[in-house]
Parts: sequence; C-alpha cells; structure tokens
Amino acid sequence: MNYDVIIIGGGPAGLMAANQFEINNINYLLLEKNETYGKKLLLTGGRRCNVTNNLSVSDFIESLTFKHRKFLFPALHTFGPKEIVSFFEDTGLELVLEDNFKYFPKTGNSISVLEALTKSLVKERILFNQNVKKIDKNNNLFIVEADDNVFYATNVIVATGSNSYPSTGSSGDGLDFAKFFNLQYHNFSPAETYVYSQQIVNDFKELQGFSISGCFVNIKNIKKSYEGDLLFTHFGLSGPVIMHLSEYIYKDILINNISIIEFGFIKQKETELYDNLIHNRGKYLHKALEMYTSKKVVEVLLKYLNIESNIIAEMKKNDLLLVAKIFTKLEIVIDKVEDKEKAFVNKGGIDLKELDPNSMEVKKIKGFYFVGETTNLHGPIGGYNITIALSTGYIASKDIISKLKIK
Ligand SMILES: Cc1cc2nc3c(=O)[nH]c(=O)nc-3n(C[C@H](O)[C@H](O)[C@H](O)COP(=O)(O)OP(=O)(O)OC[C@H]3O[C@@H](n4cnc5c(N)ncnc54)[C@H](O)[C@@H]3O)c2cc1C
Repeated sequence: MNYDVIIIGGGPAGLMAANQFEINNINYLLLEKNETYGKKLLLTGGRRCNVTNNLSVSDFIESLTFKHRKFLFPALHTFGPKEIVSFFEDTGLELVLEDNFKYFPKTGNSISVLEALTKSLVKERILFNQNVKKIDKNNNLFIVEADDNVFYATNVIVATGSNSYPSTGSSGDGLDFAKFFNLQYHNFSPAETYVYSQQIVNDFKELQGFSISGCFVNIKNIKKSYEGDLLFTHFGLSGPVIMHLSEYIYKDILINNISIIEFGFIKQKETELYDNLIHNRGKYLHKALEMYTSKKVVEVLLKYLNIESNIIAEMKKNDLLLVAKIFTKLEIVIDKVEDKEKAFVNKGGIDLKELDPNSMEVKKIKGFYFVGETTNLHGPIGGYNITIALSTGYIASKDIISKLKIK
C-alpha cells in the first residue's frame, strides 16, 4: 500500500503532524521504533511537561541563541505558544501558567499531554516496533525500510528527535537519513545540561545545594554571558544559567581543553565592594560581607582564601582587594559538560539552510520534511523545545495537506 505521508517518530513533533492528518482525513502512517509513543515526552518537566510558555513570537525568538533563530518566524507565527494552548484546550486539557511564564497541564502529569496528543489518532495508523533504518526515493515515491517491513509514500516527515536520552528512542537517526540524501547536518552535541568542576568539588564542597539567584555568569575565553539562577552540586554546577551556557562551555572546552567561567556572590563591582568594605572599616570583615551575602558563603570563601576575619581597618589592603575580587568575580575551571546522551536537549541536527522555513520541506527534495529536535533548532528550558517540535510538526503537516488538497 502507498501512503500519502509516512511520519517517522512518535514524539511531540510527529504526533502533532499525525493529529492534523487525522483531522483532514489524510492517508498517513506513523512509524515508531518503540513499543509506545512519547517516551521522552513523559519525562519532560520533571514528568509534569512544560508544554509551552506565554511569550509572544518575537520574545520567543529573541530568547533563542542560535544564529539562524529567525528561521522559526513562519512556524511560530502559524502555530506558536498561543495556538498550542488553544490546541490543548480544544482537546479538553486544561493548562496552568507557572511563574507567569511556563505552561503545564493542570493535572501535573505529562501523561495528560500525551493523551491529549493521541486521543484522536486511529490505532491502525500507528505502527509500533518499527525501527526505520533507511529512507530512499525512487521517482516520486519514498521507500521507507524498517527492520522487517518496507513502506511506500509520496511524502515523508522525519521526526526522530536528537541524541539526548537515547533510552527513549531518540538515537539521532535523522542524521543518517540526511547523510544518505547528501544533506548538510551538524553532529549532535550537549545543550541545556550540567557541568563538572573538580575545583568546585575540592574547594566549595560545603556550598553543595546553595544557589545564587539572578547570577551573571561569563565564559572568560569566548566572552559569552547569561543571567539566571546558579546551583552548586556535588560534582560541579547546575541551574538555568549554567544549563543555558552549557553548549558554549562545551565548545570552549573543545577548543581550549578547559573552560573558565566567572561569577559573583555579591552583585557589586570589585571596586564598589572594596569601597564598601573600607566604608565599614570599624566592622569585622565577615560582618561587613554578611550584609551582602549569606554567612555560609562568607565562611567558605574566607576559608578558601585563607584569610582570617578581623576589624577591616586593621587588615592588609591586598587581602581586602582579594576578598573584593573573589566575592564579585570568582573564576571557576569547568572540566567537562555532561554527555549529549544525558543532556536535556541537543545542539545540532539538519542544517537549516537545507529546509524551507515555511514548511520544513527539504528545498531540493520534494515531499521530504524534517521537524522537531532532529533539525538544528533548540531553545533553553522553559517550554521552548516542545513548542518548537509542535510548531514545526504542524507547519510540515499543513504544507502536505494543502498540496494533497490541490491535487
Ligand atoms: C528529561 C527531559 C526533560 C525535558 N523537559 C522539557 C520540558 O519540560 N519542556 C520542553 O519544551 N522540552 C523539554 N525537553 C526537550 C523535549 O523533550 C524535546 O525537545 C522534544 O521531545 C523533541 O521532540 P521531537 O518530537 O522532535 O523528538 P522526540 O521527543 O525525541 O521523539 C522522537 C521519536 O522518534 C522515535 N524514533 C527515533 N528514531 C526512529 C527510527 N529510526 N524509527 C522510528 N522511530 C524513531 C523515537 O523513539 C521517539 O519516539 C526535555 C527533554 C528531556 C530529555
């Protein structure tokens, strides 16, 4: 049997496309390698699924850091956060806004999101345990080879995800399909993940679990910075600001073997803190510092500097200068970024130059589409990545539907 469309992959991108084909009565088939769909989706947002956010399209795009972020304009304009919220509400799923930014299902369970995405799908159109190994094209027909089956279709949507959490089925297969058709792609690498630092383990063990809110972090070598919450862990650093910078730290380590980041415990310039200490010359150093940060931080950092607290007026200038430096701009060596398989998201995927931003169709191969995280599109944590998957899955399906209707 020849299908109008074959979707490869049952994550949010593939399932959104399937929804549109179902509504429009299209002869489609979804092939999923696992025994069920949406395995990664179920893990998202701490199993609560941060499905989208409440940003406008332009603010959404502004928050992305990859070079060709404007590529996403057509997709998000057609089916962005607002439309995603409406889509789920139409399925009967209530979403609630958290921190006035992130949408989660009211049930607090990612299963509800998966149920909403699959409730209108017909069982016969989904084939599980179909690991697609090869896609070829002969004249106008795509030949899709799974382990023991061969399928034929006039359109193919590749929605196989990246290489993060391969146990969920996302093993980076999209790149093999791209390679076969001579399409340009970027190997997957970690993004949105934790970093390892022996220096933190050795010198700042007591700060494990401590966080700095709104911390400004700069990667020294490449002068890339970002602001957000930072968390000390038993192996290094985490928190939104570190996660967001992790792909750049990874790049820095690739080039320089290590990456040095700098951040402060006290939000003042070095000279400003020094002046403030001098201004409080009658106080003990630790008491003066505790006006700006916690007792614990003061204790750990003074121990690290091997400086004993005394009346400030009686202390050496060099010691005070060093304190001002370290409390406002501590340098930390990062040795490693978490592996791409354990990262929440992957950088890399099909080169955006190969794809039409209005449809996600490969420019030089009619009827061939790549959507979701298998493309070189990714965002920070905060509902961006599921939004990108749903939005690109939607526009690819709409393009196919309109072409099939014209025929
Ligand atoms: C722990 C964790 C938490 C996350 N939390 C959030 C969050 O709260 N909000 C957010 O926006 N993003 C979150 N993300 C990111 C988000 O889950 C992904 O960006 C999103 O799932 C990508 O969707 P996708 O449809 O492109 O690919 P995937 O969800 O990876 O789905 C790909 C599907 O294709 C199937 N497949 C792969 N290869 C083949 C093949 N050869 N043949 C057949 N089938 C195949 C896979 O089995 C899988 O079902 C999180 C990620 C992780 C790992």
